[in-house]
Amino acid sequence: MSHTVEILSVGTELLLGNIANTDAQMLSQGLSELGLNVFWHTVVGDNLQRAEEAVALAKQRADIIITTGGLGPTCDDLTKNVLAEAFGKKLIFDEESARRIRSYFQRTGRPMTDNNLQQAMLPEGCTILPNDWGTAPGCAFEADGVHVIMLPGPPSECRPMFQYRARPYLLSLSEGVIASHTIKLFGIGESAMEARLRDQMNAMSNPTLAPYAKEGECELRVTAKAATDAEAQALLRPTVDQVKALFGDKVYGVDVPSLEHVIIQGCKEKGLTLGCAESCTGGLIAKRLTDIPGASAAFKGGIVSYTNEIKTDILHVPGHILEQFGAVSREVAAAMAEGARQALNCDVALSSTGVAGPDRDDRDNEVGTMFVAIATQDGVHVRPLRLGARPMRERLRTQTASHAFDLARRYLSGLEY
Ligand code: ATP
Ligand code: MG
Repeated sequence: MSHTVEILSVGTELLLGNIANTDAQMLSQGLSELGLNVFWHTVVGDNLQRAEEAVALAKQRADIIITTGGLGPTCDDLTKNVLAEAFGKKLIFDEESARRIRSYFQRTGRPMTDNNLQQAMLPEGCTILPNDWGTAPGCAFEADGVHVIMLPGPPSECRPMFQYRARPYLLSLSEGVIASHTIKLFGIGESAMEARLRDQMNAMSNPTLAPYAKEGECELRVTAKAATDAEAQALLRPTVDQVKALFGDKVYGVDVPSLEHVIIQGCKEKGLTLGCAESCTGGLIAKRLTDIPGASAAFKGGIVSYTNEIKTDILHVPGHILEQFGAVSREVAAAMAEGARQALNCDVALSSTGVAGPDRDDRDNEVGTMFVAIATQDGVHVRPLRLGARPMRERLRTQTASHAFDLARRYLSGLEY
């Protein structure tokens, strides 16, 4: 039986726009990995009547309701009362939960007030989900054909409570195992990717294929359900192979975290060192590379050469090239990569230069005109980019850095640029 899930987030601060509903986002990701269909995200304030209405509606249309927030000790925390009431359950004092709450306060050296013990009031007959990351325990129960799971609001509690408490509970609802692989692509848009897979995706039920797009990259998650992991893997393999064959060298990895991981890994394996010279990305290439623990085994350093002065003095970009072609040009990108390779004494150097906007540059280049380059022992290659005049500065820079990474991973895999 396939389940339909509603995530019900309780909290006035969400409605006021004080905080974003990151709990719902995190839960949706985790639930789709379990093969559960999330059909609704609902947000309701800390208001009894509206919370009751929201629960009544969720009860009608979903068979799994997951709530976030409102489990704490203050009077605006009403989630448990409303859910218990809606499913005809009493709240009962749970001694074990009370003991955990007292011990949490002892451990963290904070004084406990009596209302904290309200958090030990839980719906009768529920499965208690102990909270090792805060005070309010979560809980789960089944009633009237609906599974209800309540999780605390603070993201630092909600995430592990989902991972270690709710997830196992949900897995026990579905028979067998769910396994998935994520195929990462660069250099193809989500709509182009979807267009090529649409018929297939619609026809598939096990495994399923789900596309995601983020930051100019795409990924496809293949998920299969079977009695054992080995059977699930056997179902996944042909689809993974088929997708890889279909998109060829646009696929940069399966189950890899990011392009930059692939590059650091590739450099380490080949014993190559890496460096960069950045203009429009302003250090983002270096930042993303150094986000990876252990990057120093391959990444030597980077130069943020934002002005022409630094481009000439440190990278030795010839003045006449800057003069003739301008800083945003194929020629300067190439000279920057070459210069970085020399200055940093590395095997592979990446460079970026371009117009991140919001205005055109002094040579009237359009916003989104970018050049990335790679210098290696085999020479220099430049990739010109037109990333469009509309996108935001931040996105343009992220995409430009990713294109530089794409050059590096192509070099490392022996692919054409
Ligand atoms: P507490 O014991 O801290 O009161 P709680 O379960 O009662 O936890 P809330 O009082 O609703 O949760 O929220 C506590 C804090 O958690 C909020 O101030 C907010 O910062 C964060 N929070 C709540 N709901 C969400 C959500 N859906 N997404 C992201 N953050 C949230
Ligand atoms: Mg609260």
